[in-house]
Amino acid sequence: MCGIVGYVGKRSCLPIILEGLRRLEYRGYDSAGITILEDGRLETRKKAGKVADLENIWKSTGGSATIGMGHTRWATHGEPNDRNAHPHHDCSGSIAVVHNGVIENYRALKIKLEKSGHLFSSETDTEVIAHLIEEFYEKTTDLAQAVRLTLRQLDGTYGIVVMSARDPEKLVAARKGSPLVVGYGEGESIVASDASALVEHTRDVTYLLDGQLAVVERATVTVKNLEDVEVEKAVEHITFDLEQIEKSGYEHFMLKEIHEQPETIRNAMRGRLLAADGEVKLGGLQDVMEKLVAAKRIILVGCGTSWHAGLVGEYMLEQIAKVPAEVEYASEFRYRNPLVSKDDVVFLISQSGETADTLAALREAKGKGATVLGIVNVVGSTIARESDGGVYVHAGPEIGVASTKAFTSQLTVLALISLMLARAKGMAKRDIVALAKELDAVPGKVKKILEDAKVVADIAREFKDARHFLYLGRGANFPVALEGALKLKEISYIHAEGYPAAEMKHGPIALIDEHMPVVFVAPKDAIYEKVISNLQEVKARRGRIIAVANDDDMEIQAMAEFVLRVPRTYGFFGPILNVIPLQLLSYYIAVARGTNVDQPRNLAKSVTVE
Ligand code: GLU
Repeated sequence: MCGIVGYVGKRSCLPIILEGLRRLEYRGYDSAGITILEDGRLETRKKAGKVADLENIWKSTGGSATIGMGHTRWATHGEPNDRNAHPHHDCSGSIAVVHNGVIENYRALKIKLEKSGHLFSSETDTEVIAHLIEEFYEKTTDLAQAVRLTLRQLDGTYGIVVMSARDPEKLVAARKGSPLVVGYGEGESIVASDASALVEHTRDVTYLLDGQLAVVERATVTVKNLEDVEVEKAVEHITFDLEQIEKSGYEHFMLKEIHEQPETIRNAMRGRLLAADGEVKLGGLQDVMEKLVAAKRIILVGCGTSWHAGLVGEYMLEQIAKVPAEVEYASEFRYRNPLVSKDDVVFLISQSGETADTLAALREAKGKGATVLGIVNVVGSTIARESDGGVYVHAGPEIGVASTKAFTSQLTVLALISLMLARAKGMAKRDIVALAKELDAVPGKVKKILEDAKVVADIAREFKDARHFLYLGRGANFPVALEGALKLKEISYIHAEGYPAAEMKHGPIALIDEHMPVVFVAPKDAIYEKVISNLQEVKARRGRIIAVANDDDMEIQAMAEFVLRVPRTYGFFGPILNVIPLQLLSYYIAVARGTNVDQPRNLAKSVTVE
């Protein structure tokens, strides 16, 4: 949620901040703002809307400033309007704050501050931070110390950057629960919510940890804890290319990311799957292997698309590795005092590795003695760091807000884990080799599906004015139905529901008429005939049927109005293939409707608030 970028150096800061905000815009995009220091004064301009709107109000101004910061907001408290956009100020206008997160006790703090004379100009929780710093600054005249004292008053989560006209050479950054990374350039430093905003300028970075505060100056960055004790900072080198965070000729990031999947699925397996020998090596799980093999049950926890990956993972772990598995929404798990113990292994699935609910679930499970393991895309993220081990999915930066390639990489990693466990639990080598070879062939099959993307585009146009959609599937393809429906909702704003196909007759069948498109995920597997019976039930009620079916399934043509073809694979790897046409379908429907595919309304990429 929300993107932050701050710069201090020798160059004009405005273009660097604007470019950084553009790169972070996928994190939040309801409003944006920038504060710079010019002629000894803070100059702030902010606006509801996109970064492009903000750029217009800065045109040909502010060129001489060499220190400043910006923010793209995803509103939690207060409407997304000009006034509530960040940065926020104290009463004197000499202190500015940008914030990612939620200050839970802001109401009490605001009442107190108002009583002592502070005037507020927004409805945000964030503004209390600026006024508190003002209070403490009066007493300490040291910006970092005033921020430190302020943080002690705050409950909730924050990644903040603060600047002051009275302390003009530095930015003060601090985090608890919301990510911040500091980059070291030549005579300049940049702080941002994630590395994509600074990779153009430097690749040497430090990820701030919870409870750390950094004083960011041109030539030095000092990191301390909240007790004011300096801590050693780990400097890491970022390896991803700029190209990975650009559209590379595609119309949208989402389309680019859909088309990257043959490569990203391959990357999830690279060096890990030795298909010919039926071997799986997952370095990040080596130290916990004993625990994993002995686990009485595995719990998979996630939100949204990652939760769907967990649902497929449940099938893989139970059917391939024969381990009892359960799936939980992170947001429910964390508050229901779950019965978890040291005999359990909990996998936390999160693209960003920063999802607030998933992180809280991790801490809950860890506190109860379970082994906690991450399945995460962003290297160095909080979930990755706080886990006892885990597996990176290596999908590369995912910018499109609707997750696509991260999902298929999560499924691939869950398949690898299942194969590794099956082997450790004594599955015959011959059987493992057969499955491993099937998995190894998946990227090539994804490529084949994508070659027919244009067919999906034609079908999508037929349905662009639909008001509702049903997605049906059974077994491991029920989560695929859920994911297909979620993709459609997210980017086209068409109401869609995913259901287990056989459940349809217990309610949703009442919705079926000639206006209701129904997507069946119907590969030729053990329950194919059952799914076909459900399909006939829809057809009998004149529903419009789109089927995802195998290349060699000739019967289905006569039953479905449209057929989206996928190659055959081993049943529990099927979801990796079957979801691809559904990603394309939602993408092309959204394009046909003219919605903002990469930045759908009300959503944000990495959900770092509860
Ligand atoms: N809670 C703050 C607000 O609503 C920050 C939200 C964000 O992370 O963008 O303004």
